[in-house]
Amino acid sequence: MNAKRIALSLAAVVGLLVVAALMVVVLGLTGALDRPTTSHPVQRSALGAARPTRDLLALLDQPGPVELETVDSADWAVDRSGLVNLGHPTAKAAGLVDGDEPIQVFFHALRHPTKGLYIVDTGIEVAMRDAPEKSAVQGIVAGAMHMERLKVHAPLGEWLAKQPQALAGVLLTHLHLDHVTGMADVPANTPVYTGPGEAAAASPLNLLMKPNTDRALAGKAPISEWAYAPESEGLFDAAVDVFGDGSVWALWVPGHTPGSTAYLVRSTKGPVLLTGDASHTRWGWEHDVEPGTFTQDGPRGVRSFKRLRDFAAAHPDVEVRLGHQH
Ligand SMILES: [Zn+2]
Repeated sequence: MNAKRIALSLAAVVGLLVVAALMVVVLGLTGALDRPTTSHPVQRSALGAARPTRDLLALLDQPGPVELETVDSADWAVDRSGLVNLGHPTAKAAGLVDGDEPIQVFFHALRHPTKGLYIVDTGIEVAMRDAPEKSAVQGIVAGAMHMERLKVHAPLGEWLAKQPQALAGVLLTHLHLDHVTGMADVPANTPVYTGPGEAAAASPLNLLMKPNTDRALAGKAPISEWAYAPESEGLFDAAVDVFGDGSVWALWVPGHTPGSTAYLVRSTKGPVLLTGDASHTRWGWEHDVEPGTFTQDGPRGVRSFKRLRDFAAAHPDVEVRLGHQH
């Protein structure tokens, strides 16, 4: 082939790539590439009742019945630009730039005197440490999520095997993959709860993520969605009293995902707020800088983030545990 023909062929290839890239952008903008987070079955939660958020305030100062334990299931590192809005003036002034941010993948154990053992989020499954080829997260997604950076300390299954009590339920903050990575270790019939719209939340990214999320939930109970009753003037968008005794509250804090849920636990050592990914980092929380590009709905996320911070500021006795950092 002479130089002119090579140049022409290259031009044709580049042209085709440009057309393909444009098609992806156009299809993405029209929603044609959107896929739900999971096709796992969903139902309305039979557990918990919607309750005005102000009712929580009346109980906040009373000692609670729940023993709470936060477990570092794994250390990990992800892009800082996803976790913290680097475009925020405070982040710019602090000189924050993108790069690997060390984080933890947690689960929280709630031991209720009569309701039993529940967990918030699921940490990491045993297979991810011992047999990654058998874990729910596979292929391109495992590569893109840099699962090789994961240092597993306490996989959920190993931890559950040491507990004298059976697991009564899983309370999820949301359905992102790094919050369901322990689901494979959850016994099959254990009820699973999350906020409304989590399974249906659509994005082109789910073309890749969904098979992994579906694998993590395969064979498990249907996802029960909290029956929130939206409030216009409340502390949060809505709340559910999970056990009906005011000890554990699901708080609707949408933005990161449509059904993002924080949990307020009235523990034996005082009230504890589990923010979920409404705030991933310690720095972001302390400097009033909301999460970055991992958030699906930015303005809604900022609103929920501010509501959580306002609540914590008004009630300094509430201990705050963030989504991915101590
Ligand atoms: Zn998330």
